[in-house]
Amino acid sequence: MEPEKPDPSDCCGSGCSPCVFDIYEQQLKSWRENLLWENANCRRDLLSETRFKSFQLIHKERLTEDVYLYKFRPEDDSGSIRETCGFLPYGIGQHLITRINFKQESQEINPMWDTEFNSSETSSISDKKIITRAYTPVSLTNEEPNCCFKIFVKICNNGLGSEYFRNLQVGDISLWRGPYGNFNYKSNFFKYILMVCIGTGLAPMIPIAKCILNDEKDETILHLMYGVKSEDHIIMRDSLRKMSQFWNFSHEYFFSQCNDRKFHMKFGESFKSKRIDGSSVSDFFQGKNLTHLQVLICGSEGFTSYMLDQISKLGIDSENIFTF
Ligand SMILES: Cc1cc2nc3c(=O)[nH]c(=O)nc-3n(C[C@H](O)[C@H](O)[C@H](O)COP(=O)(O)OP(=O)(O)OC[C@H]3O[C@@H](n4cnc5c(N)ncnc54)[C@H](O)[C@@H]3O)c2cc1C
Repeated sequence: MEPEKPDPSDCCGSGCSPCVFDIYEQQLKSWRENLLWENANCRRDLLSETRFKSFQLIHKERLTEDVYLYKFRPEDDSGSIRETCGFLPYGIGQHLITRINFKQESQEINPMWDTEFNSSETSSISDKKIITRAYTPVSLTNEEPNCCFKIFVKICNNGLGSEYFRNLQVGDISLWRGPYGNFNYKSNFFKYILMVCIGTGLAPMIPIAKCILNDEKDETILHLMYGVKSEDHIIMRDSLRKMSQFWNFSHEYFFSQCNDRKFHMKFGESFKSKRIDGSSVSDFFQGKNLTHLQVLICGSEGFTSYMLDQISKLGIDSENIFTF
């Protein structure tokens, strides 16, 4: 964000050191330097909103019973790895779209694919065998060298995209375009951020939390409410536990199927044997000024509309709620 210029009346004229105008000049200088650096290193040639670009799967890992982590790096159409310094142009909370062609028998790239393509639903381009699906990078764009990005995918039974990802192997080529989504983060704008999500709805919350926790000057207090079936379905449990070592991050797990099993709770974790509901959220709201609080929601349509309803009833302004 461009720094805000002080009003002349913000300077008392008594020779303070530093003066608000000195601070402003310093902020402006580093903002301009950052902008130059970002423009020089941002690889819009590797990821575009209007054209699919090819990426190679370089890592696949099972995280839970039905969720896998995938890591991609850019590859060009001739099959050689591109020069990949810099970072991909996506922001926290944004998503990418992949295009899947079920007519394809091998993983060879058809050059026709790298063209503009607008539909986000099943396509009518040929015989309805091309689909697109959205996935959210869980890695910060500057975190992975060589312009790689990571996503996690829930493999649903009978899902077309799920079937594709189930069969995708390291070395295979995949097509991606983006980024999309209008989540904008302004450091220290809210005092509290409550993140409410279920399943792979955790995806946008991870980079948002990392971005805030990586910034020493950001004092936003984060709380994550994460709903899954049971303890075995928690994604990125160790990463979340590491985050809870920061003074401004805490998290609670909500289990919808607890089966009377004993939990294996670790230091910094909190478990609840119920679904996330209005009362869970209202407990968190207790004693807080709701105008200083933002709520982020990510999950299935049903979950999102239920949480929106519950949270709105608690008197929070709709401008302070963001759904992914
Ligand atoms: C902006 C955005 C970001 C997304 N980010 C991610 C992400 O990071 N990771 C991820 O895994 N998904 C993500 N999704 C969902 C993803 O795009 C697909 O919808 C999902 O993978 C299912 O696609 P499919 O083709 O396998 O299933 P479909 O063929 O579309 O559906 C098949 C069946 O599975 C059911 N189904 C679909 N999704 C789910 C689900 N999540 N849980 C239970 N049943 C389901 C459907 O109701 C249907 O009966 C995101 C969606 C959006 C809109």
